[in-house]
Amino acid sequence: MRILVVDDDPFAQRLFARQLERLGFSDVLTLGDAHNALTEIEQGRPRVDVVFCDLQMPEMDGVEFVRHLARMEFGGCVALVSGEARKILQAAEGLARAHQLRVVGSVTKPVNPGSLRRILDDCIRGGALSGIPETPPGQSCSPEDLRAAIAAGMLENHYQPKVNLATGSLAGVEALVRLRHPRYGLVFPDRFVGVAEAHGLIDDLTRAVLAQALEHVRTWLDSGMNIHVAVNLSMKNLESVEFPDEIVEQAKAMDIAPSAIILELTESALMDDARTSLDILARLRLKQVGLSIDDFGTGHSSLAKLHDLPFDELKIDRRFVCQATRDPDLRAIVDASLAIARDMGLRSVAEGVETREDWDYLREKGCDLAQGYFIARPMPPDHLLPWLVQWENRCPELLGA
Ligand code: C2E
Ligand code: MG
Ligand code: MG
Repeated sequence: MRILVVDDDPFAQRLFARQLERLGFSDVLTLGDAHNALTEIEQGRPRVDVVFCDLQMPEMDGVEFVRHLARMEFGGCVALVSGEARKILQAAEGLARAHQLRVVGSVTKPVNPGSLRRILDDCIRGGALSGIPETPPGQSCSPEDLRAAIAAGMLENHYQPKVNLATGSLAGVEALVRLRHPRYGLVFPDRFVGVAEAHGLIDDLTRAVLAQALEHVRTWLDSGMNIHVAVNLSMKNLESVEFPDEIVEQAKAMDIAPSAIILELTESALMDDARTSLDILARLRLKQVGLSIDDFGTGHSSLAKLHDLPFDELKIDRRFVCQATRDPDLRAIVDASLAIARDMGLRSVAEGVETREDWDYLREKGCDLAQGYFIARPMPPDHLLPWLVQWENRCPELLGA
């Protein structure tokens, strides 16, 4: 992975390079001048995969730099660095995202190795490595490719465990879809779910994910695990009133109780016809299917949706959870979300639990379930049982027993 650090302060440059080297990244270029950095990005070979950019530079500030990156349609990962107040850093990060850049986070100075590691993990996960063909940000899949991939059975579910914070026991798994692409390898959903939504393919995608999820959960139930499976829905799936019956029939055919299925909904897609989706969601709940509000706290109408729709689970977004122990503002958001869940009688799930500190904090706050890299990364279905054995060994220490 080729990393470029742009910072006018030579001391910060050296510190950065040393920390990156310790983390095992040797192909690091540090530049003090933003103009040179832009030239390097435009003309440098091999191409730059990740840029760390200081916000406060005399010649060209970070916001201006980000604007140039966007104009150049830079397809690599961008991370912002600053000694400025966190709020400024967050605003700049939001701006870079609005420019469609692939923002992998922001770090405050002095930079610590933990946050660097996290950012670079995200880059690797997102396929920023040289050698993987460059794809336009956010759209690695054409609708034609996607249609063919779904028909050819190239979608694969991976599963991420959700565990009980009080007892450590495995409560369920979330199905996370991946596309096994002949050229790009394993493609993550942010590259194709939006395409599916925009081109009328989302129902086919969801059907494929659900069918696999039911099959896998059947084998887990057979092996004596009492777990639920969560499947992500797009609001666009809620346009056909037959949807609840279809799900319940599929579950019945596999001898799976509808209550073992949880449907996770995000609020990113606007509801075109609120009545139809309300009708569908109400009927799903009547049929005992679980409903979860995903990425709670993002989007524009979380609280109103929470009131209007019959959810029974609230998932606090990972952006709040994974920084909560370090950031008092985010901690306030997590605490308030937990209070809302408790007062409304909803099961609370924290996603993005990445560290022991996150785990301890959520336990102390009485959150019900935890999901995140600290517990397990999403994995292929046949890895779940071996993971469970290891997890049960880790549990006594994590529960303070
Ligand atoms: P989501 O439903 O909020 O799923 C959680 C995402 O967070 C997953 O990303 C997961 O890999 C990631 N994650 C889990 N633990 C951690 C952690 O500790 N730290 C960090 N930084 N990330 C963590 P993934 O698999 O890339 O999925 C992204 C989104 O794509 C999902 O967000 C979901 O909204 C959507 N998606 C996934 N599968 C489907 C699907 O079958 N249908 C639809 N409509 N959307 C899907
Ligand atoms: Mg989800
Ligand atoms: Mg989520």
